[in-house]
Amino acid sequence: MQKLVDGIHRFQREAFSQDQKLFETLAEGQNPLALFITCSDSRIDPNRLTQTRPGELFIQRTAGNIVPPYGSVFGGEACTIEYAVMALKIRDIIICGHSHCGAMGGLLNPEAIKEMPAVQAYLQHAEATRRIVNENYKHLTDPDKRLTLTVEENVLVQLENLRTHPSVAAAVGRGDLKLHGWVYKFETGDVFGFDPEENAFLPVKDVSSPLTERVREMPPI
Ligand code: ZN
Repeated sequence: MQKLVDGIHRFQREAFSQDQKLFETLAEGQNPLALFITCSDSRIDPNRLTQTRPGELFIQRTAGNIVPPYGSVFGGEACTIEYAVMALKIRDIIICGHSHCGAMGGLLNPEAIKEMPAVQAYLQHAEATRRIVNENYKHLTDPDKRLTLTVEENVLVQLENLRTHPSVAAAVGRGDLKLHGWVYKFETGDVFGFDPEENAFLPVKDVSSPLTERVREMPPI
């Protein structure tokens, strides 16, 4: 804990004074570039990853970057999404999964979370991910590859969940909002975006390539 308090003092002494103008401007309001939905995992730093500054990213963090479908719960997720789209007029939403995701590990191995009823309940919003992986990718037995695939499929499933939110559906329909699916591999710094043309996650190169319009086609069984 002391490290955190020391960090605040150093921030006030050094970082704040260097950017004082920026911080003062933030009091006038916010106009973020995107809504960034990612996992609560401590190894992800959205601002550092995208080299953005305070005021530039509206961020929602949940276990496994899960977005409960509209109407299933009226919690913080629905509220954040609605506010981002309707009040802040966000033009882009990114759902960013990541390598070595503990939530996705729990999804594949329910035994590991059997004493965590809240986690179990929340992961129900990723049940489609679990079923897609278990039923359509039976041939994939390597645990690391299976987890990577689960992380990717879950990004696509959560994009589908995101589209059930009326504010998102309406704004996408008007062409005012674009949805993007990313996976961040923190041990290498790589970021992959889902490319619907290639039906695959490819290195993010420009804003047009990671556009996500539909879910990945499944392999033939
Ligand atoms: Zn995670």
